[in-house]
Amino acid sequence: MDSCAAVEKELERVLTKFTAINEHSAKIIGDVLAHFVELQKHIAGTESNAELTPGQIVILKDTLGKTKEKLQRLTADHRDLHGTVSKVGKAIDRNFVSDFTATSRTDVFTSERNIQLLNTVIAQHFYRQGMDDVADMLIKESALQHDEISIEPYAELHRTWEAIHNRDLTPALQWATHYSDKLEAKHNVFTSERNIQLLNTVIAQHFYRQGMDDVADMLIKESALQHDEISIEPYAELHRTWEAIHNRDLTPALQWATHYSDKLEAKHSALEFKLHRLAFMQILSRGIEAQKEAISYARTYFAKFVHRFQKDIQSLMGTLMYLPIGIQNSPYRHLMAAEMWIEAADSFIKDACSVLGINKDSPLSVVVNAGCTALPALLNLKQVMLSRQVMGIWNGRDELPIEIDLDPDNRYHSIFACPILRQQSSEDNPPMKLICGHVISRDALNKLSSGPILKCPYCPMEQSPQDARLISF
Ligand SMILES: [Zn+2]
Repeated sequence: MDSCAAVEKELERVLTKFTAINEHSAKIIGDVLAHFVELQKHIAGTESNAELTPGQIVILKDTLGKTKEKLQRLTADHRDLHGTVSKVGKAIDRNFVSDFTATSRTDVFTSERNIQLLNTVIAQHFYRQGMDDVADMLIKESALQHDEISIEPYAELHRTWEAIHNRDLTPALQWATHYSDKLEAKHNVFTSERNIQLLNTVIAQHFYRQGMDDVADMLIKESALQHDEISIEPYAELHRTWEAIHNRDLTPALQWATHYSDKLEAKHSALEFKLHRLAFMQILSRGIEAQKEAISYARTYFAKFVHRFQKDIQSLMGTLMYLPIGIQNSPYRHLMAAEMWIEAADSFIKDACSVLGINKDSPLSVVVNAGCTALPALLNLKQVMLSRQVMGIWNGRDELPIEIDLDPDNRYHSIFACPILRQQSSEDNPPMKLICGHVISRDALNKLSSGPILKCPYCPMEQSPQDARLISF
């Protein structure tokens, strides 16, 4: 626009000058004409071959002199105009690039094929715009083959678009119904066979954890999953044991705890002791006749916990005094309360999962819960992105556009964000520890290294990029 304005300014100058010269010339020519009319008057009565009188000669000379002078001024004005006009040309040259040859190839449309491709594109454009007549005419005149052009989608789309504008939803609804699956699939992660089977596996594991083995078995059968692809056993076994505790049957839990005794102790778990304490209380609940058995149980199993639960064991021994009146009537009755069993069952699941290195909650419930937490924020964000028309910036990325604050229960591992690139590390771009101890991402490492030398951006120790170690956590 600036270029246009600059040229326009010169153009206005020319026009102003033209107008001025135009008016001036008209006046000069009028003056010259008046002189000649005057001259004509003076010599009108004279014979055609008679000599001019001296007075007439003076008037004639005067008229010729004045005319010459005026015409010279007119020529000078006209010459001056040339300069102004050529300034416009210079202004155009200065403000516009006239050489576009670098950006185009003149030979592109010499071949018949390319011309027809261009015509095809133009015809398709007209069909899209709903200008079918023009497109038909173009096809006819350029001798294009109608079937070479895939018209239908455009024409149909435009007709449908127009119908919506005219408040007629029928074609659009027909179209949407016809392509329903595809429309859905566009936003569906579960299109690949592999992903569907992963989802089924997670659901099956979830059911096993919940003790709904029948449902899980049925799902595996119906979705043709391989049974051995799913690590069922730990979940199924844990759930059976958990259920047994709820049913006041401590046998499987005690077996499990004995088997993993060392590991539980290493994790400072009180599970094994809690289970034995419940078993002890269970014996006591049978009354005075179980006294011997209770003492024998305590001798057998509590010995190994004396160093960790000395006080608890001492107070447990106090229960024996109350056997004659019944534990239910003693200050120890809370040790047999229903809550103790529920707590033991929950401790069992928690500690067993910790020992086995599996998550307490099933991935399915974690995903659903985290999704529910994140959903309101993501919906808000989508609304904002839609209104600003920037949906594209999120597509195709495997990370969320904003940080979602989840419950501490849902934090499983630390994350590393590269201090140089300010990006979260990924499998493709893992954190690397330099020999000075500073950690940056591998992409940053590659960018910062010049040949065999890397200068740490923090300390700044010089080192070889090869010495950097990949770290995982
Ligand atoms: Zn460093």
